[in-house]
Amino acid sequence: MLSIYPDLDNLRIYGSEYANILMVKIKNPFWKDVVKHYKKLYHRCCPLNIDEFMSEYIHYNVNITRDKKIVYIKDWIDNGIVLIRQLLGPHGEYLNFNDFTNQFPHIKMNFLVYEGIITAIKKYQKKVNIELSVRFSCLDTKVWTIIQRGNKAVQTALDKSEAVPAAVNKWNKIYNSPLNWKKIFTKTRKTTLDTQLRWFQLRILHRILPTNKYLCMCRIVESACCSFCKQEEETISHLFWHCDIVQVFWAKLKTALNESCENCVEPIFTETLVLFGVKENVVTDRVIDLIIILAKYYIFKCKLQGSTPIAKIFIKSLKQRYIVEKYASLVCNRNHSFNLEWLPYLKLTQAD
Ligand SMILES: [Zn+2]
Repeated sequence: MLSIYPDLDNLRIYGSEYANILMVKIKNPFWKDVVKHYKKLYHRCCPLNIDEFMSEYIHYNVNITRDKKIVYIKDWIDNGIVLIRQLLGPHGEYLNFNDFTNQFPHIKMNFLVYEGIITAIKKYQKKVNIELSVRFSCLDTKVWTIIQRGNKAVQTALDKSEAVPAAVNKWNKIYNSPLNWKKIFTKTRKTTLDTQLRWFQLRILHRILPTNKYLCMCRIVESACCSFCKQEEETISHLFWHCDIVQVFWAKLKTALNESCENCVEPIFTETLVLFGVKENVVTDRVIDLIIILAKYYIFKCKLQGSTPIAKIFIKSLKQRYIVEKYASLVCNRNHSFNLEWLPYLKLTQAD
């Protein structure tokens, strides 16, 4: 990524407002989205103690402004002055102008500008209600500490917000009624530990899966037409449900399930069950949830490979998947519950 967008590296020395510059520069919609979410996460990272406050960035920090403008001083950056703690003296006090010029004699600095920045930092410090102290730990900046802790920490930090993801509003609008999103997102986590599958399902939920409609909007492909039927616009709902060719796939998969599994006597597949893994008044088990995600993943792979989704081929791949899952359950010492879960589907995993 850094070889394509070297400026991304600047997020390690600048505050969140730099993300705005990046979002203009970056053309790839996925990475643009990543930067957008970085900014969102950054704003959730309000400093709560002196250690975190001292690790805040000086430049491009929306909380440190002079005349309503963010701070950006190239000379400081070139000399590595990017964090608040670098403006402190040995006794835990902000350096005054003379101390600063003595410490950095080669940096040309105007008295008023310097005092203005220190005043802005003090104002921010007052706003977050943090007392100065001589002792503080030199931590990594809060946002990066969270990112380094991993996906779960990032998710927890983002989940604190009440904000509804834009995609959720869009889906609700399409279906004309709010879906049970808590259940939908929880199900995605619970269905599989496979990060590739989870990420795939999350891209569907967040409407960032590259369908032809999306790619056409980004000017990556010329036509928004469906890869299978070549007639309708390829949206997420069309690709995984409405397309005639995909409908045949689901119908055949349903027949195969009805014939081989005791659990699946009802006609099970519906649009919301296929797309989101939930259907009103219907309880599904973990295996069928997994089969649905795998089937979508298979459909998507067919789209990328330019082939047609065929239920028989998918069921064959399920057998392979069963072996992998079984092995994983052995390794995790949950073989017993695995056998129980898959019991109703054994015929399916053994069919020719
Ligand atoms: Zn189609």
